Amino acid sequence: MEYAEFVHENVQRVQERIAEAALRAGRDPAAVTLVAVTKTFPVEAILAGWAAGLRHFGENRPEEGAEKVPQVNAAIEGVRPTWHMVGHVQSRKAALTVAHFDVVHSVDRPKIARRLSRFAREAGRQIPILLECNISGEPTKYGFRVDRWQEDQAQREAFFAACAEVLPLPALQVKGLMTMAPIVEDPETVRPIFAGLRALQDALAERFPDADWRELSMGMTDDFEVAVEEGATMVRIGRALFGPRVPHSPSHPVTQLPNHRGQVR
Ligand SMILES: *Cc1c(COP(=O)(O)O)cnc(C)c1O
Repeated sequence: MEYAEFVHENVQRVQERIAEAALRAGRDPAAVTLVAVTKTFPVEAILAGWAAGLRHFGENRPEEGAEKVPQVNAAIEGVRPTWHMVGHVQSRKAALTVAHFDVVHSVDRPKIARRLSRFAREAGRQIPILLECNISGEPTKYGFRVDRWQEDQAQREAFFAACAEVLPLPALQVKGLMTMAPIVEDPETVRPIFAGLRALQDALAERFPDADWRELSMGMTDDFEVAVEEGATMVRIGRALFGPRVPHSPSHPVTQLPNHRGQVR
């Protein structure tokens, strides 16, 4: 089987699984956007995804995106994909992020929000963003610390104060929340994480009723069905579409495709 065919079948299957999960929860499958996370996969893989109907792509490193986004855009006629930055953005990478991405899921501190807004304003753009929330409390995770927001008033107020700083920034449009669940064997284990993000969305809608909180970016290859059942409007999926990731380093650019068994050619 050719790699493009492998991706095509994966796209179909993932879209079916999203639709089934949405219907189980009484939701409209069209309310869930599939963001294909292409980090470590080469341009060829992204183009196979485009040919299979994918229209939203995500990268987690601004530098890698800066390399691949222009190549993919140049290879596509007419409408171009929507590019999502889903990984941590260092302050010095804010300009690069604005230059290549349409949506940022991973705004995790007011400082990066201010910088993104500044560069977006200079470029004459409005950038939709999500606030990344660390719901699980894992110390290795980025995101606003909200693991105890329901019972810990100080933590809740600190997060609301950060929101109050980000919301008025002139060139950013806050659209909702993003989270990454812990890696677990059984995706049912992380259902409370996703339900927790949705509860936080409700609290924010009450506290900041004039803002737009509609998007919930949650769910990856191993847990996206549970996330959709719990209200995800964006799922960020890599391996279920493109196969296992091949480890690489910046000095070894992303050129290798896994085959359909996940082996490197
Ligand atoms: C890599 C990544 C994903 C996708 O992970 P898969 O397990 O390949 O589906 C989603 N979100 C973020 C932030 C990522 O870095």
